[in-house]
Amino acid sequence: MRESLCMAKKLETDVIVIGAGLTGATLACGLAANGIQTVMVDRAAPEDSISPSFDGRASAIAYSSKVALDGIGLWPLVAGKTEAIREIRVSDGASPLFLHYNHADLGDNPLGYMIENRDMRSGLLALTKQTAGLDVIAPAEVTAIARSNEGAKITLRDGQTVTGRLLVAADGRTSMTRQAAGIAVIDWGYNQHAIVATIDHTVSHQGIAHERFLPSGPFAILPLKGGHRSSLVWTERKSLVESFMALDDNTFLAEVSERVGGFLGDTSLVGPRFQHPLGLQVAATYTAERLAIVGDAAHGIHPIAGQGLNLGLRDVAALIDILVDAKRYGLDLAHSAGLERYQRWRRADNLLMAGMTDILNRLFSNDVPPLRVMRDLGLATVNSLPTLKKTFMRHAMGQVGDLPKLMRGEAPG
Ligand SMILES: Cc1cc2nc3c(=O)[nH]c(=O)nc-3n(C[C@H](O)[C@H](O)[C@H](O)COP(=O)(O)OP(=O)(O)OC[C@H]3O[C@@H](n4cnc5c(N)ncnc54)[C@H](O)[C@@H]3O)c2cc1C
Repeated sequence: MRESLCMAKKLETDVIVIGAGLTGATLACGLAANGIQTVMVDRAAPEDSISPSFDGRASAIAYSSKVALDGIGLWPLVAGKTEAIREIRVSDGASPLFLHYNHADLGDNPLGYMIENRDMRSGLLALTKQTAGLDVIAPAEVTAIARSNEGAKITLRDGQTVTGRLLVAADGRTSMTRQAAGIAVIDWGYNQHAIVATIDHTVSHQGIAHERFLPSGPFAILPLKGGHRSSLVWTERKSLVESFMALDDNTFLAEVSERVGGFLGDTSLVGPRFQHPLGLQVAATYTAERLAIVGDAAHGIHPIAGQGLNLGLRDVAALIDILVDAKRYGLDLAHSAGLERYQRWRRADNLLMAGMTDILNRLFSNDVPPLRVMRDLGLATVNSLPTLKKTFMRHAMGQVGDLPKLMRGEAPG
């Protein structure tokens, strides 16, 4: 990372990434590590994004995503902060029928890993600082974007300009870059919010993730580093969320226990609670002239399956493959065939996952008796069919479909 950056008034690079969230920062580090000069811009100061009050979420990282993060050099920086997910237990309210995934049914590798988002952000911040060929400009506000056959150019509030061959929008659901390109989105809300909290507990979680489907939505208890800490993602009807957020800690924990039971022993809250409105959003197209969009800027899905970031990381790994390929053959990094390949590769996969999470949420977030019977039988059926169960486990591990090279443990390109 160049120190003199803030003084520069004109910067030239290969790729400009707008947004230094989990997907944007991973992309920027991965591109620079593969010899593609990159400038990343974010409106937030990097240090703010690692404070405990910024983002209380933890992410389930699918096994294939872990392989890709290893490939760009992030995993060694964060591995000590992760917890392996060895089992997943899915149940429908109080029904005795359930679905149980055990990593040992497929081999030695865990199903995935849990990591607190701020730990991943800290790791990415450290990686951006040690990656040659990557410049970070933050906090900074982009005031103008221009794209043409000649190149892409952004102008910042202080008058500084950055020009590059390709612009990448990684600026999240409300992406200003996507909007400026006139790319439409299809979206709808779920009338649900996710309440996110971290708890300490006296009984070890043993690396088991739990998902309990309740009429208001899924309630996930996700194992964090050390055995006695978990992340809660409690999906609740929008109209009730404020009242649960306002509860004192003990009453809040009693409400949690009423929903999921007391299998973790005595519990206490760690840090603040957070809430996130939930909705589905898909961009009509992922590319335009000299532009590609990745992560939540391209797709926002329900967290029911813990796959939103994993899809973003697949976008990142696919784009790195395509851009490294273009560089190797001396092509323009924004050549139309490359952008078309990116769009074909990632949009269908993301739409499929968006559709699946939407259906799952509609099927499970209710108390309609015929649906309850149907889904409980479904869970029990999958649980009793080893081959089908293994297929679902491979999906959860991100090992199905046309994987980019980084996700297969190979050098990109
Ligand atoms: C409750 C919950 C739980 C989840 N759990 C999981 C999980 O377990 N596993 C999983 O895979 N996914 C999960 N997800 C999804 C995951 O959190 C998101 O998909 C992911 O964080 C999106 O990252 P991103 O970098 O694409 O976007 P963002 O995190 O939104 O980052 C966008 C970045 O762009 C910057 N920015 C925005 N506008 C501008 C601008 N105009 N100029 C400059 N910079 C700008 C922002 O400051 C920010 O840094 C969960 C989501 C929720 C809501």
